Amino acid sequence: MTRVVEHEHDHGRAPEHEYDVVVLGAGPVGENVVDRVRAAGLSAAIVESELIGGECSYWACMPSKALLRPVIARSDARKVAGLRESVYGPLDALEVFAHRDEVVGDWKDDGQVDWLDSIGVRVFRGHGRLLGPRRVEVAGPEGERHVLTARHAVAVCTGSRAVLPDLPGITGARPWTSREATSSDRVPGRLIVVGGGVVGVEMATAWHALGAKVTMLVRGERLLPRMEPFVGEHVAEALRARGADVLTGVSVSAVVRDGGTGPVTVVLEGGDHVEGDQVLFATGRAPRTEDIGLETVGLKPGSWLDVDDSLRVTGSDWLYAVGDVNHRALLTHQGKYQARIAGAAIAARAKDAGPLDDGSWGAHAATADHAAVPQVVFSDPEAAAVGLSLAEAERAGYRVRAVDLDMSGVAGAGLYAQGYRGHARMVVDLDREVVLGASFVGPGIGELVHSATVAVVGEVPIARLWHAVPSYPTLSEAWLRLLEAYRG
Ligand SMILES: Cc1cc2nc3c(=O)[nH]c(=O)nc-3n(C[C@H](O)[C@H](O)[C@H](O)COP(=O)(O)OP(=O)(O)OC[C@H]3O[C@@H](n4cnc5c(N)ncnc54)[C@H](O)[C@@H]3O)c2cc1C
Repeated sequence: MTRVVEHEHDHGRAPEHEYDVVVLGAGPVGENVVDRVRAAGLSAAIVESELIGGECSYWACMPSKALLRPVIARSDARKVAGLRESVYGPLDALEVFAHRDEVVGDWKDDGQVDWLDSIGVRVFRGHGRLLGPRRVEVAGPEGERHVLTARHAVAVCTGSRAVLPDLPGITGARPWTSREATSSDRVPGRLIVVGGGVVGVEMATAWHALGAKVTMLVRGERLLPRMEPFVGEHVAEALRARGADVLTGVSVSAVVRDGGTGPVTVVLEGGDHVEGDQVLFATGRAPRTEDIGLETVGLKPGSWLDVDDSLRVTGSDWLYAVGDVNHRALLTHQGKYQARIAGAAIAARAKDAGPLDDGSWGAHAATADHAAVPQVVFSDPEAAAVGLSLAEAERAGYRVRAVDLDMSGVAGAGLYAQGYRGHARMVVDLDREVVLGASFVGPGIGELVHSATVAVVGEVPIARLWHAVPSYPTLSEAWLRLLEAYRG
């Protein structure tokens, strides 16, 4: 069992500290890595340059969902007879923003600092950089420096940031990225959203409901291109029905905002243009690795970090990369899962406890990253998926059958919302008769995805799923209808 020890030496220069594990970046993932290694009896320090809690707590998951919750609740309520009449009228944007601000703790991280304190993890504020193997230098906000040495592992959990495309005029146009879109407390009159992925769709949904006239500019042919085609089609149709413009198959070639104030014009390839009061670019993420000393350990600054299933960086025996920064699945829950796996692997290696349990679905292998990543999009209607889509399963060489279901036929759906519109698909591996993936779109279906995740991860045979009886009358009855359709 490794001792919990923290040595500090001050040789007249930067004070030196020694821990079993040093974690770079205190987003949800870094926090979970330190939590796991501490629980295993190792000492740990964590370095954070902004707020403990990371992107997720302050500029991503939490504020976006706080903005979307009233939107979705109102929309659902408007589909219930007897309630509908009580929920006409606009959202109270100021109240929505006040609640969002409360959810993000007014962009203060005291609570999270207290928690790290309570589990005995030392926090170093400042920008961290690798200084060669197992060493990290921290440059603090007041110019102070510390050097941390890790006996066993350094975990890079520095996350990702929004990227702006390299377009003429873009910097001077002061566009929104996900940070401004989740933290603004002013509703633009006309908002142009560039990008049809999850962030673009969620923010278009929120700001449209808060009162902006929204135009979405999407390069591909449909929204949410990583999901089954029917998902994006339902979501686009609903956005259009509520009055948003969704333009697909268009590429932006320039952005113009004279003097950095006043209206913004987005120029499209081919010469058309769209004018708005603000433009959000939701066009992808880049790893936050450009200035973390990767060159001192033979890695390329600015790259996503390649890892094995124990989250250890390829070619290293002490460096781990966990969460967004490894580009496996840019989602908080999946990053936290990786953190649990990495924490267990780091502890097992530190204790020299024999071979790792790193076969498929073992305690030290993030197998779900390959087979069962669940995701809920808080659009209106909601969208959710786990595992492989039909196209992905076919590309992977499975012999598959897709079973489709119009959700309006499910008894629970009709009760959930009058005129319920939604769709579900289950993708079955015909050789093993197990579910490889499932996708849903419709009001209230976000909560359905965990049942699908259990089926996929458990590789539950269809013949056994037949005995997993969904309660009547809930949305989960979609499972019964899908299984009936499969069995014929
Ligand atoms: C608008 C939006 C909405 C989202 N909604 C959801 C959602 O609903 N559900 C979901 O699962 N996912 C969601 N995501 C994705 C989610 O935010 C990320 O997957 C998650 O934040 C990744 O966690 P992380 O700890 O890897 O990185 P981050 O949360 O980015 O944290 C990394 C931390 O490292 C710090 N850091 C970086 N470099 C250094 C350095 N050199 N020194 C010290 N500290 C450093 C950063 O300041 C930051 O605090 C959303 C993303 C966006 C943009």
